[in-house]
Amino acid sequence: MSGNASRLSAINAITSGKDVTVEMPDPLSKIWASDVFNLAKMEQTLSKNAFKAMKKTVQTGAPLDPATADVVAAAMKDWALSKGAKFFSHIFYPMTNATAEKHDGFIVTNSDGHAITEFTGSLLIKGEPDGSSFPNGSLRMTNAARGYTAWDPTSPCYIMYTANGPTLMIPSVFMSWTGEALDKKIPLMRSNAAMNKAAHKVLSLMGETDIATLNSSCGAEQEYFLIDERFATSRPDVLLAGRTLFGAPPAKGQQFDDHYFGAIPERVQVFMQDFEDRLYKLGIPAKTHHNEVAPGQFEIAPYFESANIAADHQQLLMTVLKNTAKKHGLHALLHEKPFAGVNGSGKHVNWSVGNATQGNLLDPGHTPEENLNFLLFCGAVIRGVHLYGPLLRAVIASAANDHRLGANEAPPAILSVYLGDQLEKVFKDIQQGNLNPTESGGLMDLGLSEILTFTRDPGDRNRTSPFAFTGNRFEFRAVGSSQSVSGPLVAMNTMLADSLNWIAGKLEAAFDSGLDQTTGVIAVLKELMDKHGNVVFGGDGYSAEWHKMAVEERGLKNIPTTAEALPALMEDSVKDLFKNTGVLTPVELQSRYEVYSEQYILSIELEAKLVIEMATTSIYPAAMTYLAELGTSISGAAAMGIELDTGIAKKVAAEADAMMKVVATLGNAVEKHDFASTEAHMQFCAYEIRPLMDLVRSHADALEMTVANTVWPLPKYSEMLFIK
Ligand code: ADP
Ligand code: MG
Repeated sequence: MSGNASRLSAINAITSGKDVTVEMPDPLSKIWASDVFNLAKMEQTLSKNAFKAMKKTVQTGAPLDPATADVVAAAMKDWALSKGAKFFSHIFYPMTNATAEKHDGFIVTNSDGHAITEFTGSLLIKGEPDGSSFPNGSLRMTNAARGYTAWDPTSPCYIMYTANGPTLMIPSVFMSWTGEALDKKIPLMRSNAAMNKAAHKVLSLMGETDIATLNSSCGAEQEYFLIDERFATSRPDVLLAGRTLFGAPPAKGQQFDDHYFGAIPERVQVFMQDFEDRLYKLGIPAKTHHNEVAPGQFEIAPYFESANIAADHQQLLMTVLKNTAKKHGLHALLHEKPFAGVNGSGKHVNWSVGNATQGNLLDPGHTPEENLNFLLFCGAVIRGVHLYGPLLRAVIASAANDHRLGANEAPPAILSVYLGDQLEKVFKDIQQGNLNPTESGGLMDLGLSEILTFTRDPGDRNRTSPFAFTGNRFEFRAVGSSQSVSGPLVAMNTMLADSLNWIAGKLEAAFDSGLDQTTGVIAVLKELMDKHGNVVFGGDGYSAEWHKMAVEERGLKNIPTTAEALPALMEDSVKDLFKNTGVLTPVELQSRYEVYSEQYILSIELEAKLVIEMATTSIYPAAMTYLAELGTSISGAAAMGIELDTGIAKKVAAEADAMMKVVATLGNAVEKHDFASTEAHMQFCAYEIRPLMDLVRSHADALEMTVANTVWPLPKYSEMLFIK
């Protein structure tokens, strides 16, 4: 089908087949975690001792003995077979944001040729995918091909239904033959352990005697776009790059602010219900959903869980989101900036740390000034963001997220901390050496007798901060919608561990010198705020004044693109941070730098090639078709003695010509490969290739506004965003 025909037939098909079938949803009690081999199912199927051992491993990370693994494997196999599964797969998270699987059958044959099923503890524990097929940066040298996956018993196994049938999925870590972490799970688990160890020190110094294992928690808010699948298939950029590389802004964008929290279109409601039911079956606690700011944009936020499980669930959620959308004839876009001119998509990572004995250590309670443990942990976060801001910027850096960060919609590329009025005052007071009582938010009383009064939060929200305290957790808002939450969680847990270690050292010295508990804590926090209080900022993060003040007066870094952000991973302070906490060895860190840089370069090169191809093979031909049509009309009119204005024809010719000149320059730029360093290559992508792509686009978008609608090949923004 020629370009414009496929676009027009897509519109026809979508607008003529509008019926949505609404099925009655299954009750939650029936579907909740029905496809998960969780503790509840283990309790039903394991011996008492095996269950006790598993529970201890899940809850405290205690090692599991091989005999128990055998028992668990047998029970797991029986359960999976009863669900119709014939295959199992270790599922793991390579350094890309992807999820990887290697499927094996339960089947073996015996000497009589009978098929029997087998699944031992050792098969459950260890898998062996081909390590060399995943990016591993400099670890390639030490690890030729061998890579191992190993079962993570703390994250429950589940059944995944695909067209292939049901498969037992086993959440796993992924390492090289030499034992280096090749994935996103090992560092996350190590960062939890480092945080736990450091937190224990601080809590013990604070006189706590009963201290349960500490864990970090994560609740991720996922933003995404939905467009009709038929539009996606007529746009190679959407299919291959996940975003539109061309597209003139529609007359109606988000300027009316009428989409945010508006009524959800019926077709999308039906999709959401199906999507959430699938999540429930997988034990993922989908909790809120609503429209987002841009037309066609939505959000889903599951209830928070322990970070390691939340990270696995986030990856699974993205997969289920894409697959379910497909089933509904929709295409889900997880890209950070699928459409220019309307808001991009983020993934707010809500993060806290706590345990069973002290509770959530980032919960201030009603009187934060009396909650010394809270003040220490909150102070530790402030110090962490100040010292390791560039690291936090690096772990959210990607070619896609560069379109959001720093633009006037999303968190700025300067890392600062928002505490809210009440808490900011507490820390300012501490800096003066005082602890004063705080004011609560008071009662919300509208003076309307029929509306019940309620207590107001002590502070308003600040949506312009990249890193905000939101009542009982921090919310890292600058994370991109397609990213794994693991990188941000690793950075946050590790910087917290480092800060808590620093605090422990200072507290110990303060108490040794005879200070009482409160005076000692204030002294330590005062020193901390003197050194790091500059990172606390409650104003408008988007404003030009802040950008100037942050850099010039406060010494914070404004890191505009991935090309500048990723090299932070190679700074000595970051190397030391990861080495001292045991989260990543220098080699493991180096390999991450290499993999992420390579991905940045590859994704920009892919986009540049697509720009060249689409401009050459569909936009230029459409312009020429239209020019020929105009030519026919102009000469036909002339034959009748009518002189038509040739302005439009000239504009089409000029824009098309100019576009192809830039395409040629871009073609040469993409061919360049002799770079002195990876940094230089990234800079070239950011500051040479990207601007050329934008320039091609500006000519193409001008053509879109000029060329006849009937010959335009690509679905337009107004169609993709508004036709559902
Ligand atoms: P908002 O849009 O107002 O920021 P949402 O309700 O959409 O909030 O999402 C907030 C997310 O934060 C949810 O995933 C929620 O479960 C999570 N969350 C709540 N409390 C905590 C906590 N103590 N630690 C981590 N995450 C939390
Ligand atoms: Mg939020």
